[in-house]
Amino acid sequence: MKKTPNAWHDESNEEGPSRRDLLQRAAISLGSLFVILGVSSPAVAKMAQKAAAYQETPKGEQKCANCALFKDPASCTLVDGAISPDGWCRFYAKKS
Ligand code: SF4
Repeated sequence: MKKTPNAWHDESNEEGPSRRDLLQRAAISLGSLFVILGVSSPAVAKMAQKAAAYQETPKGEQKCANCALFKDPASCTLVDGAISPDGWCRFYAKKS
């Protein structure tokens, strides 16, 4: 079957939204859902304690309570799970 010249110019409009349009809309909707629910994107998931070599005891003067990444009372912006103020991991960054 031979196509007419008009069919070559405007195929996406005749068939509805393109696949790219649908994917963009899905991404925007998912991002909006995370904002509405007040949750962070799965792309920023935290690191497992084991991978960070987390321990519940300090390493000398270094401990979570004086790390820039510690979030009072018991969490960390980088490492997942309950974090003790007296803990430590290999990503320790001294609070300024
Ligand atoms: S030492 Fe590690 S686990 Fe503790 S607050 Fe800092 S980055 Fe998080």
